[in-house]
Amino acid sequence: MLKIKPEEIAFDIDGVVADTIGAFLREAREKYGIFIKYEDIKEYELSKAVNMKEEILIELAKRILYEPLEMGIRPIKGAIEVLKRLSDKVELLFVTARPDKEGIERWLKRYFDKTRFHVIATGRHEEKANLLKEYGKRYFVEDRLETCYILKDFQITPIVFEQPWNRKPHPFIKIKEWKELEKLIEWNHLTR
Ligand SMILES: [Mg+2]
Repeated sequence: MLKIKPEEIAFDIDGVVADTIGAFLREAREKYGIFIKYEDIKEYELSKAVNMKEEILIELAKRILYEPLEMGIRPIKGAIEVLKRLSDKVELLFVTARPDKEGIERWLKRYFDKTRFHVIATGRHEEKANLLKEYGKRYFVEDRLETCYILKDFQITPIVFEQPWNRKPHPFIKIKEWKELEKLIEWNHLTR
């Protein structure tokens, strides 16, 4: 069975730690009267996943990027507990393809001590693998399948966090919830 040392793993944020789509759909409903079910988001690209006027989509995307706290994005169930436990052992590394890290960093500060995590915003999905390699990471929890294939090319083992938009055949390890990930971590490993 796979055993991951705490210092070997890093994390994507949206769709893995943060329930970004949950907040997106809530705001679409409350502000614009657009009803879409979570389970119906079958594409990662929101413009392909939902039938929404471009202006509305842009407004909501801005909120996600700059105002995740104000928008009320909630953590994904179990994420904070497992990550807190991990942050007692190592500094957490979050790597996001967001073009700007400020908003999501403020969001993370609500849950984690700012000295216990580091966020890198690459702006491009394709940059994640190389960066993780530089940081010596061997595992990455991700919800975008296309990124997982790139990670694999860089000898980084992707762990797919299951979401409606990644329920397609793929060769990677997948987890449905954070409890499953918790079981894969070698908690007794001495890191300090
Ligand atoms: Mg993501």
